[in-house]
Amino acid sequence: MKIGFIGLGNMGAPMAANLVAAGHEVTGFDVVAPCPNGVVAADSGAAAAAGQEVVITMLPNGDILRHVAAEIIPAMQAGALFLDCSTVDVDSARDVASDAIAAGLLAADAPVSGGIGGATAGTLTFMAGGSDEAFAKAAPLFEIMGQKAVHCGPSGNGQAAKICNNMILGATMIVTCEAFALADKLGLERQKMFDVVSTSSGYSWTMNAYCPAPGVGPQSPADNDYKPGFASELMLKDLRLSQQAALSVDADTPLGAAATSLYKTFVEDEDGKGTDFSAMLPRFEKRSRS
Ligand code: NAD
Repeated sequence: MKIGFIGLGNMGAPMAANLVAAGHEVTGFDVVAPCPNGVVAADSGAAAAAGQEVVITMLPNGDILRHVAAEIIPAMQAGALFLDCSTVDVDSARDVASDAIAAGLLAADAPVSGGIGGATAGTLTFMAGGSDEAFAKAAPLFEIMGQKAVHCGPSGNGQAAKICNNMILGATMIVTCEAFALADKLGLERQKMFDVVSTSSGYSWTMNAYCPAPGVGPQSPADNDYKPGFASELMLKDLRLSQQAALSVDADTPLGAAATSLYKTFVEDEDGKGTDFSAMLPRFEKRSRS
């Protein structure tokens, strides 16, 4: 396929490289980052998008996506697929998709989970929103860049799935960390805590697969001095998107709101920026109730 790829940062560059390795013809554009080997560099977003069967975007946020979409939609050929893999707010995803469809294009939002490691290994999970036709056209590319793709419904539903998942993840990580800190003060060894919880009703992905306590459970960023992994500021971004979405549909999300507020404090007022989101554990360790 002839593919345009816009946004070649930490995630976009390895995703584009995997498409090239699978034999696709990829033309790329980024305002800062260089094109990875094998990706033909274009000198604008519109130039990268013109004449392609699929244009993939992997951008930082909804405002930038809207800006790039306004530039590339008029340049894209009729019937081509606009495939946005960024994590953005649901409203931006839906507005961009409806503009693309009004211009005679196919559109899908398909945010990912799996991080830079998953992007490099081609093992991302895609959660997609859009028509059946758009999903079918994207499916072979999902297979190259990822290991699983779930069609979640119409436009915006991929972003909805992503932020609901990450709201659970953020809140669960916090309570896992506070439980370890409480167990410490109660004199319960961390390994014993893991042995019990990981096989009891408190088990979770954050405990069993990404344990925030160093030396306990499988290897995780805790064993690498809390280097990300999944950075606390990216967790804050996704939690904020969850609260923006909750506000827009009048959903009551008290734990999501509390998790957002705590990661905001951690990232903006404490030393959380640049650490893995599991570094909440050393934060709680040092604290008392007051
Ligand atoms: P990044 O900042 O490394 O990459 C974004 C790229 O977009 C940058 O290279 C930037 O120069 C480029 N860009 C900005 N404005 C542009 C424009 N107008 N035209 C062309 N290029 C432009 O971010 P990332 O880590 O690659 O993340 C990309 C998206 O994936 C984000 O929405 C993020 O939330 C999501 N995501 C990231 C991870 C992760 O672990 N990094 C995991 C899942 C999802």
